[in-house]
Amino acid sequence: MLLIKNGRVIDPASKTDAAMDVLLDGELVKELGAPGKFAALKDAEIFDAVGMIVAPGFIDLHVHLREPGQESSETIETGTKSAARGGFTAVCCMPNTKPVHDNASITRFIVDKARMVGATRVWPIGAASQHSEDVSLAAGAVMREGVTSTRLGLRGMPAAAESVCVARDVQLAQLTRGRLHVAHLSAKGSLEQVRAAKAQGLRVTCEVTPHHFTLIDEDVRYDSRFKMNPPLAAREDREALIAGLADGAVDVIATDHAPHEPALKDVEFDRAPFGILGFETAIALTLEQLVQTRKISLARMVELFTTGPARVLGMERKVAAGQPADVTIFSTTHEWTYNVNDSPSKSRNSPFDGRTFKGAPMATIVAGRIKYRRQ
Ligand SMILES: [Zn+2]
Repeated sequence: MLLIKNGRVIDPASKTDAAMDVLLDGELVKELGAPGKFAALKDAEIFDAVGMIVAPGFIDLHVHLREPGQESSETIETGTKSAARGGFTAVCCMPNTKPVHDNASITRFIVDKARMVGATRVWPIGAASQHSEDVSLAAGAVMREGVTSTRLGLRGMPAAAESVCVARDVQLAQLTRGRLHVAHLSAKGSLEQVRAAKAQGLRVTCEVTPHHFTLIDEDVRYDSRFKMNPPLAAREDREALIAGLADGAVDVIATDHAPHEPALKDVEFDRAPFGILGFETAIALTLEQLVQTRKISLARMVELFTTGPARVLGMERKVAAGQPADVTIFSTTHEWTYNVNDSPSKSRNSPFDGRTFKGAPMATIVAGRIKYRRQ
């Protein structure tokens, strides 16, 4: 048994925000109780969470683990180790592997491999989904179109490259009464489409990445660590995303963790692949950009990483008796500096390398086992 004591439990599913001790037994949560309730237990391993937040296990709805096919950039083992270090207990890996994940034998491979070497749960996504990007508007572009793209001499794509696709997909969701989840939404116009769809009662959800609510196109330097897709957007897009994260128009924070080994990424901006690492800075960036600025509450933050993605997947996520013992423990005060060279990831492509944060993942518990613990 594992006893997490002295923590502040925040669980949006049960509307809990209270000092409680949590007792885990094997792969399940056994019981929650007032601080000290389980003091008489002699044989339980103890995690002292004093001063920390204890939350349901964080889910990352959008990640790239690169296996099979691009194991020099990441593997299921190294990617999930990095995820656990970022506070995630489950990740949904995208199908753009080599070969593409579009059949059951690859699903089986990923699931088996994750069971053997994964530090987190891995829920693979099959190739039926598509990318919200208009090919003709985005052709050859490497960043968002604007003053900065002109100054850097880089080809830009307009915000409409994303929003026209979201508009089309929303209309198709309306036509088919189907479900639509918009991945890595970055433009104000796209969010307006999602808002309108939700107001009509359509089953439309969306996710936003930490880099899109932290950085903007003006931050882009001639450095491929600032190259991702969708590209960093304009200031007014970021403001709209933050408003949506606060008021519920955005359902999920997902990292779009996209590792590329140095040999691929350390080239001219135009030639580098799109994408940046995401796991290990997600909690800290959310605290820095959204919670410490009082744009959202801690409970809302936990929701965006737990019940939000769980709802998109059609599942529940909470810390309650009988539920899977997946728990994310984080601090809102721990000061640290992100050094990408400490990462278990095989790649180093983060624009946040060297950044100092207040707040960090402290422990990640998957099926009752501590998979990461900050030293
Ligand atoms: Zn992606």
